[in-house]
Amino acid sequence: MSYMKYYSNWAEIDLGAIRNNVGIICKHTGVQVMAIVKANAYGHGAVPVARAALQGGATWLAVARVDEAVELRRAGIVAPIFLLGYVPSLRLEEAVANRVSMAFWTIEQARCVSAAAERVGETAKLHFIVDTGMSRLGAQAGEALDIMRQVCSIPHVYMEGIFTHFARADEPDSDPTNVQEDLFLMVLSALDAEGVRPKIVHAANSAASLTRSSAVFSLVRLGISLYGLFPNHKYPLPPEFRPALSWKSVLSQVKVLPPGRGVSYGHIYTTRGNERIGTIPVGYADGYRRTTGNYVLVGSKQVPVIGRVCMDYIMVRLDSVTEAKAGDEVVLIGSQGDARILAEDVGDVWGTINYEVTCAVGARVPRIFRE
Ligand SMILES: *Cc1c(COP(=O)(O)O)cnc(C)c1O
Repeated sequence: MSYMKYYSNWAEIDLGAIRNNVGIICKHTGVQVMAIVKANAYGHGAVPVARAALQGGATWLAVARVDEAVELRRAGIVAPIFLLGYVPSLRLEEAVANRVSMAFWTIEQARCVSAAAERVGETAKLHFIVDTGMSRLGAQAGEALDIMRQVCSIPHVYMEGIFTHFARADEPDSDPTNVQEDLFLMVLSALDAEGVRPKIVHAANSAASLTRSSAVFSLVRLGISLYGLFPNHKYPLPPEFRPALSWKSVLSQVKVLPPGRGVSYGHIYTTRGNERIGTIPVGYADGYRRTTGNYVLVGSKQVPVIGRVCMDYIMVRLDSVTEAKAGDEVVLIGSQGDARILAEDVGDVWGTINYEVTCAVGARVPRIFRE
């Protein structure tokens, strides 16, 4: 509550929710959980979320960029870290030196990693990525056996794992994911027959972890549901999951304006009568999208954002909360009394998904971590 005396707007991260959400998936799948903390833990704060996820039962962490892995290592985190995809060539040594397991999909990449590992004086750990239908990264199924045969003779690398990634596991139609899973199983058995199948096998993201026990394999890669958010907006998570992030601010000014007053840049909004207008110190520089149709909670009620979103401020119409005054709490994402705005709701207004909403919470917004 006193954060508002210190910050203009801030994100509160409930680390208990992170531990809770990991625990549900551990129990549900019965396999190891890799907590995906890329993109500053989907905007939640990488290091505290990584620690909470490990406390909650995760055994692996995953990131998308070398700097993200280095941040975790610098914080003293020793758990295995997987880098989910591309590593720029001049960062390979750094990745190996930081004991980051890496993805690869060509024999040339494996050779470059091998050379980097030799220079560092370590063994690099690799996971072979098979493109079974996402068409983003990975070897095609038909090339898999050839690459895996060759990679066996490359020194300084250990073939730790093999994985694939689903494009449509969040949809009710299971056919597209069945096709991907079948192709992955075919590759696995071909590698098995030649004795070149790596030990750790993984495929499932949050959606598949929840709905597809056949794709659970040795571990699941838990992203969005770690944060208590829905893999697909149309299909809510079981109620035991708890969203971890709230985004809050404060009313910095409240005033009554006469009819006919333009509000904010461009005067795209004009008061129709005497209107109570509140000013809130959050703007697009904090990641609040400069679009129309936004709303926030004041006095446990939804109030509309009016006029243009500024870099550092938004204005709201407070007709429905006549008692609202400067200093009152504002909720952009989260609960206030019985009212609630989910990241999914903000995604609807912004024409995007919850993933992009929490990732958008700006670097200048302080994260407050609550145990
Ligand atoms: C980001 C990512 C995930 C996590 O997906 P969610 O839908 O957030 O659970 C899993 N695997 C890969 C390869 C990813 O890039």
